[in-house]
Amino acid sequence: MLVVMDRQSTAAQVDSVVRRIEALGFRAHPIPGELRVAIGITGNAGPLDPGEFEALPGVLQAIPVTRPYKLVSREVKSEDTTIEVGGHVIGGGTFTVIAGPCAVESESQCLQAARAVQAAGAQLLRGGAWKPRTSPYSFQGLGEEGLRILDVARRETGLPVVTEALDEESMDLAEKYADVIQIGARNMQNFSLLRRAGRASRPVFLKRGMAATLEELLMAAEYIVAEGNYRVMVCERGVRSFGSHARNTLDLSVVPAVREQSHLPVFVDPSHGTGRRDKVGPLARATLAVGADGLMVEVHPDPMQARSDGPQALLPEQFLDLMTLLRAMAPLLDRRMEPAPSRAERR
Ligand code: PEP
Ligand code: MN
Repeated sequence: MLVVMDRQSTAAQVDSVVRRIEALGFRAHPIPGELRVAIGITGNAGPLDPGEFEALPGVLQAIPVTRPYKLVSREVKSEDTTIEVGGHVIGGGTFTVIAGPCAVESESQCLQAARAVQAAGAQLLRGGAWKPRTSPYSFQGLGEEGLRILDVARRETGLPVVTEALDEESMDLAEKYADVIQIGARNMQNFSLLRRAGRASRPVFLKRGMAATLEELLMAAEYIVAEGNYRVMVCERGVRSFGSHARNTLDLSVVPAVREQSHLPVFVDPSHGTGRRDKVGPLARATLAVGADGLMVEVHPDPMQARSDGPQALLPEQFLDLMTLLRAMAPLLDRRMEPAPSRAERR
């Protein structure tokens, strides 16, 4: 159920509707809009009677929500969600580039990557401290030491940092060090982790599972938002299919579908989507053209030596060329590419 407040309703009236919802044992999610406030209701087992809420002062209408995902749906909020990270605004017409190595391997590797992506104009730095690897014998990441290195890179470049949490323990640490917490494809339906992310004090970057439908992706986002963390972005990173020409099949058609169904910012990761350096540029360009809110790209100062995902990492100069091209394309596609946050804006 969505309770839509009248344009003239007062803050006190919104408050008393929230209290009424809570008194009924449900959860109220006030959603400020350009013209009016709406209040989403979750936690009800069955349908609610709209009349019960429409009788309250300041309420314009109570509308049953038909989608299985409620709070993340456009039915509940028609305007795009924007998320501020370190002075940079994600969504609402900007095109945000998150770039950096797959894994943090050493301070020097991470700093080289961070300086290169900042110089090329990326707005956020990525780097994994815990890596979800297929083989238990592969490099698993530096753990907390990786987070400390990311913190050094943030202080050095001013770029906010995105890092993946694999479980609740790593989420506690990621929350302390990072600006955005990533939940990876393999954990997209780890519901207890999603709930924990919903209680985190940081925005969440949620990647689509490798065999997840659009509905499953949005339901996973709903888990986070339902816990009260409204700062969620979703990311297409390729799904499993039968081809061997690429690591995965990058499903760009999901971007307009997400934008139609949901107000959340949507990103694309052509690095994991293709697994091959030479395919990353073309699909990054397509990402901008298809209307995504941003891009996640792996960049490594020396991909031949990378401890994970070397074949898909762009060299710094390739990333610079890509950014130059994207910057030229963005105005034609009605997207703003803002400069990298300056050192002065760092937190
Ligand atoms: C990553 O971003 O490094 C990663 C492991 O991605 P995914 O979860 O999409 O495989
Ligand atoms: Mn990777």
